[in-house]
Amino acid sequence: MAKKQFKSESKRLLDLMIHSIYTHKEIFIRELISNASDAMDKLYYKSLSSKELNFDQEDYYIQVIPNKEDRTLTIIDTGIGMNKEELENNLGTIAKSGSLAFKEENQPQDGIDIIGQFGVGFYSSFMVAEEVTVKTKALGEESSWNWTSQGSDGYSINPGSKESTGTEIVLNIKENTEEENYDQYLDPYYLKGLIKKYSDFIRYPIKLLMTKSRLKEGEDQQFEEYQEEETVNSMVPIWRKNKNELTNEDYENFYQEKHYGYDKPLSHAHISVEGAFRYNAIFYIPEKASYDYYTKEFEKGLELYSSGVLIMHRAPELLPDHFSFVKGLVDSEDLSLNISREMLQQDRQLKLIAKNIEKQIKKELLNLLNNKREDYEKFYDSFGRQLKYGVYADFGQNKDLLAELLLFKSSKEGLLISFDEYLGRMKEEQKFIYYATGESTAKIEKLPQAELLQEKGYEILYLTEDIDEFALKVMNNYKEKEFKNISSQDLGIEDLDQKEELKEELEKNQDLYQEMKEILGDKILEVKPSRRLKKHPVCLTSGGDISIEMEKVLNQMPNNEGIKADKILEINIEHPAFKALEQAKTVSKEEFSLYTKLLYDQALLIEGLPIEDPVEFADNIWKLLK
Ligand code: ADP
Repeated sequence: MAKKQFKSESKRLLDLMIHSIYTHKEIFIRELISNASDAMDKLYYKSLSSKELNFDQEDYYIQVIPNKEDRTLTIIDTGIGMNKEELENNLGTIAKSGSLAFKEENQPQDGIDIIGQFGVGFYSSFMVAEEVTVKTKALGEESSWNWTSQGSDGYSINPGSKESTGTEIVLNIKENTEEENYDQYLDPYYLKGLIKKYSDFIRYPIKLLMTKSRLKEGEDQQFEEYQEEETVNSMVPIWRKNKNELTNEDYENFYQEKHYGYDKPLSHAHISVEGAFRYNAIFYIPEKASYDYYTKEFEKGLELYSSGVLIMHRAPELLPDHFSFVKGLVDSEDLSLNISREMLQQDRQLKLIAKNIEKQIKKELLNLLNNKREDYEKFYDSFGRQLKYGVYADFGQNKDLLAELLLFKSSKEGLLISFDEYLGRMKEEQKFIYYATGESTAKIEKLPQAELLQEKGYEILYLTEDIDEFALKVMNNYKEKEFKNISSQDLGIEDLDQKEELKEELEKNQDLYQEMKEILGDKILEVKPSRRLKKHPVCLTSGGDISIEMEKVLNQMPNNEGIKADKILEINIEHPAFKALEQAKTVSKEEFSLYTKLLYDQALLIEGLPIEDPVEFADNIWKLLK
């Protein structure tokens, strides 16, 4: 049959991989064995619901056969196999469409990194092989098929002669080069090490054909070579092993092997619960979000095993949304193999497991926060947003669980701090936890509203993401200290005399404030002399529950247009601008109106809000310059 082309995106990825100097070429063996094991799992799972199929443990194994003369390495499984259509679909496309484009947009072109991100499974065999042949026969099919490819120039599929169900993959191993010793992939002892390293826990026997030597019968000094199959994996799944026997590297290898992510996990936890309902679980806190994490396509969940058999790739019931970034698995002997999706949702035991896992995840995150701050901040950089959504979602149901885990940049040193750290260094007389909102910390730092607080030495939390203030509003307080937006009318620090002073000023200049309000109409609630401003002439503060920042966010959402914060225009009476304003009032109504509008527009600009009539603003400035 004629050669077929790989889909174009797959071809590019394959090219990158073959020609990259990726240092971990050896992982191809892990990928192929893992596919073989999956194929047998699929068959086993089928046999559970089929009367004709009889699953006999003995019949399920993986063979690895190195052959130095032919330079081939063959991996055979007795799994479910593939029919022609599956061959075409499964081995004709590498990357899910769009994922490569995503990578290229977001990172400089780098083959190594792309492999790291997508762990391209079966195709990794092209890193060590110049030609790959897949001979396969699907369960229940009459005919078998051979798929052959030498890499990125395409593949062909032809009728085959395989008699038993399953798949046989033949790699024609490359010749040695100066940089790379490919011969080692034909050396049984080397292969044995790799299999033990990467695939020890695979629950089917991996039988490696070893070449050994022994004394020749009847001879004293003469040795002869002979071949013998040896099962090289222990077959005990990692989660059934004793924690003390496992190293960090074991857990990391398992994470890679499972394709939980292509980053290095920041930490893991291994739980074994005995008693009325027994289960083992391993979960990981990843460092980086997968490319689809913050999209609708992302599906959360842990793998679910029943007595070592995978029954569900992703059981969403096991993870709450706020911890959806967690990867891992749960295995229980007390769970029925035939449990259906619907039954799972109802399952009381599963709910208990999920609750416990949630608790353990929180514990692990706190452990990172308190003992491995740098790692926690890496984690937070990727998943902090999810935690904040978690606080806000479901009417704040989980806020108490999550509040401790939040970090925000602070006005002191610009570092990330937790609420507890904030409380720990609050001034004695300080009543509130202050925060400011804005697009970036640089912008927030310049907000005039912050002046008074900074003078008092109060720390301010900088909220730069849309979700931030909503989360804080839902929480309302942390350990009984309420949150306060620095742009809100009452900062909670005005003492009486100063309030008196303001009242006097308001009375003295009542006309002026009133007239300004009339000029600006219902754009604002009122105009007031300010106590908080030091160097700046004006600012906008909000009187009600909706802050100016929230107004911005809400107006970007559909169906929410028209929501308005109660804005108050504050004027710094110590500022020369105020003198000029008073002066203008004595000149003419027009002059006063001009100054008022300009000051208001200035306040809008500082707040990052659009000016309602930019043309008028420009004209007004021109009038003033004349
Ligand atoms: P992944 O395993 O991540 O899905 P691969 O590129 O390794 O990606 O494999 C693609 C698909 O090809 C698998 O999902 C599976 O359906 C099929 N496949 C690969 N190897 C085998 C095998 N040994 N037996 C049956 N199917 C296989």
